[in-house]
Amino acid sequence: TSPLLQYAFFEGEFVPSDQAKVSIATHALQYGTGAFGGIRGYLDNDGRTINIFRLSDHVQRLLHSGRLLRAELPYSADDVCGIITDLVRRNAPRHNVYIRPFIYKASLQLVPRLTGLKDELAVYMIPLDDYLDLSKPVRLMVSSWQRIEDNIIPSRGKVTGGYINSALAKDQAAEAGYDDALMLNEHGEVAEASGANLFIVRNGTLVTSPVTSDILEGITRRSIVEFARDAGIPVEERSIDRSELYIADEAFLCGTGVQIAAVGSIDGRPIGDGQRGPITEKLQDIFFTLVRGGDSPYRHYLTRVPIE
Ligand code: PMP
Repeated sequence: TSPLLQYAFFEGEFVPSDQAKVSIATHALQYGTGAFGGIRGYLDNDGRTINIFRLSDHVQRLLHSGRLLRAELPYSADDVCGIITDLVRRNAPRHNVYIRPFIYKASLQLVPRLTGLKDELAVYMIPLDDYLDLSKPVRLMVSSWQRIEDNIIPSRGKVTGGYINSALAKDQAAEAGYDDALMLNEHGEVAEASGANLFIVRNGTLVTSPVTSDILEGITRRSIVEFARDAGIPVEERSIDRSELYIADEAFLCGTGVQIAAVGSIDGRPIGDGQRGPITEKLQDIFFTLVRGGDSPYRHYLTRVPIE
């Protein structure tokens, strides 16, 4: 059975998800010429509201990713936000969800280029609770796959074809018995995990790779920088050397899917004492209190959609 929720947005309308289908000759399917988003909707503590986290920021990044592919769509950012909130209302989930908007080259043409092709927007939803088991720290390896550099495939956008890089690294890590892979960039600096950004803690300072280190411009990452600074935790955005990983006091992954996941070891070397550290725990508290609808100074980051 399909894990998709009942309705999807496809070719300009809301349709039953099993009718949202493309041809095998679709350009994006053949060449990876798509751009996507990944957004979470959390069931509020009240049981009657879906809290979408940073919807307008996700839509803006989606449109920027589309722009990298020279996508031309008849929708403004507000239109896309409206389509997504309408879809949430129609599907009326009573559980946490993952929302996947997708811009893609829809023409059935065989030339690998960007212009002269029709662009489409589709959105679907799936149920999603924790993607990683957050109760135990994750075990990472440094992948032998290098992170795609911006001058090969734009790494700061969520570009479909670029995810081959993530799949190669994640697969290698899983085969070797790890939870996920960390990738280094062409300069040997730490970039990010297959589907998440990384923070480390050194001497009480949070450190994360800058957006010029071939990382996705992560929205959770940006949120954590803000949460930490507001909580009086110093933050540095600077390149991270591989050897700093091995002497970090704490490390965690962050992203829409993983949320905030403590890292227990990297390449078999324990991070700190191998357990979730206090800064990681504090940031998880701030994040989960917010998304579940608790009292938070960051409630403006939620789009609250009432469910009938
Ligand atoms: N890096 C990669 C490669 C990702 O796929 C993701 C997930 N979107 C992230 C980082 C985290 O980004 P965000 O916090 O915006 O979900």
